Amino acid sequence: MPYSEDRSAWYEGQGLWAHVPASDWQDWVWQLKNRLTTAEQLERHLTLTPEEKAGCAFANQKLAVAITPYFFNLIDRNDPNCPIRKQVIPRAGEMVISEEEKIDSLGEDEHSPVPGLVHRYPDRVLFLVTDRCAAYCRYCTRSRLVSNAQDYNFHPEYEQGLRYIEAHPEIRDVLLSGGDPLLLSDKKLEHLLSRLRAIPHVEFIRIGSRIPVFLPQRITPALCEIFKKYGPIWMSIHVNHPKEATAELKAACERLSFAGVPLGNQSVLLKGVNDDADVMKALVHRLLRMRVRPYYLYQMDLITGGSHFKVDVRKGIEIMRALRGHTTGYAIPQYVIDAPGGGGKVPINPEYVESVNDEEIVFRNYEGKTFRYPLKSTPKKVSNPELIPVEATIYQ
Ligand SMILES: *Cc1c(COP(=O)(O)O)cnc(C)c1O
Ligand code: SF4
Repeated sequence: MPYSEDRSAWYEGQGLWAHVPASDWQDWVWQLKNRLTTAEQLERHLTLTPEEKAGCAFANQKLAVAITPYFFNLIDRNDPNCPIRKQVIPRAGEMVISEEEKIDSLGEDEHSPVPGLVHRYPDRVLFLVTDRCAAYCRYCTRSRLVSNAQDYNFHPEYEQGLRYIEAHPEIRDVLLSGGDPLLLSDKKLEHLLSRLRAIPHVEFIRIGSRIPVFLPQRITPALCEIFKKYGPIWMSIHVNHPKEATAELKAACERLSFAGVPLGNQSVLLKGVNDDADVMKALVHRLLRMRVRPYYLYQMDLITGGSHFKVDVRKGIEIMRALRGHTTGYAIPQYVIDAPGGGGKVPINPEYVESVNDEEIVFRNYEGKTFRYPLKSTPKKVSNPELIPVEATIYQ
């Protein structure tokens, strides 16, 4: 059955926590303190499947479990296949390690000149500033270090990282990530942003964060003031399914936008979550309505224990084909594979070009109709021959 949704509805409310004062509910520190982190806590509200129970028992060796009350409300508790549930409640599949999977599948540690800094592309760096997140995604690319369940012992070295960036004038773009940078205190974040802003060669500063999705309460007016002060700060949020696009997320995106933060979205293509053209279309439409431009759709990285989430690339290409031409160009993300071992992000597109030679390019449009665009000019008529310089060789 094709996915359908009530397009006018934006989920909101305190759900299972209706008894809690609104002032607590809207307080991000309260949300963090009241996260669900154990199988017992989850079972107070829903029945875990045997698969999930096994996953929870194993999670502490891989990636901790944590779900904010706000995000937990989005789970359909009667549906073991709920796309929100699959993202945050572990399943036994996490214990299956496949041959091709790696702890550090993108070779980030090899490209790391100082702890927490990945310098892969010539002009930009990835600055991992914390190993904590508001909630943990079961398919996390950095599960080796995030939540510290694997004793990776991640210690971001802000000062070393900043000095490296200061000493490398070729770095014009700094991407703060982690973990989730917005879990840092306002004070720490302001310190980092002010230091980065003071480096003349750093033109572009951006933050990758799933906080607006897991913990929209964190997007406070005080935080927005910091973004205004050191802006432009760009932000990539991380929404995978239209159900995550709630009234609270929409309001948080509005606060960010009005503080001058341009917003993009990164999704990971996940089996049973968003590997469906109708779901993807509903998602990107909701994003545009929240002032968020879809940026990347990632083929999942080859992380350990991730195979139960893996989607065939051909399915991803089919989804991209279902978007192009069928919806607003702004709604269409770039589908990429982050090349295993550290080759960077490479676009994987449906093929529209049928052939190209010196004469012409032949291609198909979104309806599958063939078109041609000539590459050679063959003059038929010259309107004002006397204006053409004598050395012109246009006449044959
Ligand atoms: C994704 C990534 C970036 C940013 O890539 P863009 O395509 O510019 O968004 C930079 N460095 C590393 C190591 C990355 O993984
Ligand atoms: S928010 Fe990002 S870093 Fe944190 S667990 Fe999810 S994917 Fe990993």
